[in-house]
Amino acid sequence: MPELPEVETIKRELKPKIINKKILACITLRDDVIAYPKPKAFCRAILNERVIDVTRKAKYLFLELTNEKKIIFHFRLSGTLSLRKLRTKPERFTRVIIKINGYQLFFNEPRVLGRLYLLQNKRRLPILKGLYNLGLEPIVDEFDLNYVRNNIKGRKAKIKALLLDQSICAGVGNIYSDEALFLAGIRPLRRAKRITIKETAKLVRSLKDVIKKGIDNYGTSVSDYHRTDGKDGNFQKFLYVYGKEDEPCRICGTKIILAKLGNRSTRYCPKCQK
Ligand SMILES: [Zn+2]
Repeated sequence: MPELPEVETIKRELKPKIINKKILACITLRDDVIAYPKPKAFCRAILNERVIDVTRKAKYLFLELTNEKKIIFHFRLSGTLSLRKLRTKPERFTRVIIKINGYQLFFNEPRVLGRLYLLQNKRRLPILKGLYNLGLEPIVDEFDLNYVRNNIKGRKAKIKALLLDQSICAGVGNIYSDEALFLAGIRPLRRAKRITIKETAKLVRSLKDVIKKGIDNYGTSVSDYHRTDGKDGNFQKFLYVYGKEDEPCRICGTKIILAKLGNRSTRYCPKCQK
């Protein structure tokens, strides 16, 4: 569930606190969360390295370490990070603890789907193919009408499915795609090839707006996501459709509908969205 705004929030909160600090210990409470290399090798390799940067790409977070090592966090549906003082007890769903000079970084993951990877010397990992096949993030200038048009025109797929496609809209997930489609007045189940140029332009603007507003509000806390200090984000206060099924639309009062989209779901207002 953490999407671009949530991972960006985690990045901004961690960076000033852990930069230039040394990794003192790594403890795995669930070995399967470490996807590469083996948990013991992972922990041994990061020990005594310093954090030289904290960066983000789409929904991935990176701790860049000395000696060209890089820890990659892929949060999937319910992963989060919390930063606590030393000697704080692990939380209910803490799967990995990384002690960083004065702090403990808890990787919490109720559903145990999120994963950690360690990359060394810029080598590529075949299991991370999603990372090497990312499209543009809506917040960059190059993500414009032309870019989106070229990616959706003539396609039979439903527009919502294309917004969730990371090779088109990097960092976008269920929350921000539902909200952007609402703001653009487009039903999520419409076929992409039926979306007009004018609607596409509106969608591009809406995507940029919701993602930016999500970042400005420290992300959306509706289920598992919390900020690194355990507090909630704020963007849930501004949602129109995500998680609002059966509630009246804030604009027109019509009941928000929950619809299936493959194995995902989507919400929309049948009156405001055409
Ligand atoms: Zn409505």
